[in-house]
Amino acid sequence: MRPASNIPETPQPPYPLIQKSHIVCGFGRGSSELGIPTANIPINDSLNQLDTGIYFGWCKLEVNKEECSKKVERGDGNVVEFNNGSELSASEKDVLPMVMSIGWNPFYDNKEKAAEVHIMHKFQQNFYGSLISYSILGYIRPELNYTTKEALIEDINLDIKIALDTLKKESYANSDL
Ligand code: ADP
Ligand code: MG
Repeated sequence: MRPASNIPETPQPPYPLIQKSHIVCGFGRGSSELGIPTANIPINDSLNQLDTGIYFGWCKLEVNKEECSKKVERGDGNVVEFNNGSELSASEKDVLPMVMSIGWNPFYDNKEKAAEVHIMHKFQQNFYGSLISYSILGYIRPELNYTTKEALIEDINLDIKIALDTLKKESYANSDL
């Protein structure tokens, strides 16, 4: 059973947790299996210290000018072309709401964590290789096991709703990004 989320009226320490990273490619499961794309970010020490589960907050994408364009063969066999955010429109570079999952990565025998961000925005193009600044403002729920894909999708949609409702509050409006 999904535990009730207990989100405080204002962000509590250690939040806001603000970081910047670049977007890498994963297995392509987010879009193809669930219809919910997740921008994968490399795990670092501070993300590694967080409990697994679903977080929410704000993020901001930026063109990664230092990165050259490259093609990477993804785990699902598809070739992913990195545009490093060069196709992002002006409004897609605004501060946008997000949910982030931190979970055990099956690719590494569940020994390493993985972080993935779903941004609540309909993008015209993908943005592999772009930079992402993000501000985590709170925790929604722990990682759960699902027996069906539909149950997982339903829970993610509930996470998205909780995130959007909370981010509407004035106390959560400031992203500092
Ligand atoms: P991967 O396994 O390579 O991460 P996904 O199927 O999870 O593949 O898709 C993620 C990619 O989709 C992101 O890296 C990004 O370029 C793109 N994308 C498009 N829309 C979104 C969105 N709303 N949130 C996150 N990523 C998105
Ligand atoms: Mg992904």
